Amino acid sequence: EVGEISVKDIDRIAKTSFPLCMRHLFEKVREDHHLKHGGRMQLGLFLKGVGLKLDDALAFWKAEFAPKVSAERFDKEYAYNIRHNYGREGKRTDYTPYSCQKIISSAPGVGDHHGCPYRHFSEENLRAALVRMGASSRVVEEVMDKVRNRHYQLACTLTFEAVHGSSCDAGINHPNQYFIDSQKILQ
Ligand code: SF4
Repeated sequence: EVGEISVKDIDRIAKTSFPLCMRHLFEKVREDHHLKHGGRMQLGLFLKGVGLKLDDALAFWKAEFAPKVSAERFDKEYAYNIRHNYGREGKRTDYTPYSCQKIISSAPGVGDHHGCPYRHFSEENLRAALVRMGASSRVVEEVMDKVRNRHYQLACTLTFEAVHGSSCDAGINHPNQYFIDSQKILQ
């Protein structure tokens, strides 16, 4: 069971409990006031899974995009897709957040920020991101070793364990599982 979060909670929980893939998207939307479709889908459905309700999701994206996208253009070009993700448009499917497997096998192009950093970042960018998350140099080397062997979810699990100082025996299979396990430890 997931709880409910509001827009004002996102900053705090992003720092403490988002996996690197979602931190990256969150940082990018903050920086660029925009995300391409793949990033909006990956982060948007994750936030839905974390407990962000539709009205809050609309408010969140509208505010993040505001420096670049007028309210009128937002309502015209972006709101439909967000409502669609919540099953309020089109076939009314209630879409579920992406699993690690789906994210790892995605193919982000130039200017895209979705995907799995362990798979899709350059070595240099991944090392820098891990240090920013608070990983020691020993942990960074262990993570890079998993990445070289293409064990991306194990690399994420090692990061989780280092950041939380707690083991994660089940391993990381889903970004929303990462979030829930993190919250369990922190609460
Ligand atoms: Fe996200 Fe999964 Fe990659 Fe971790 S392993 S960064 S949760 S896609």
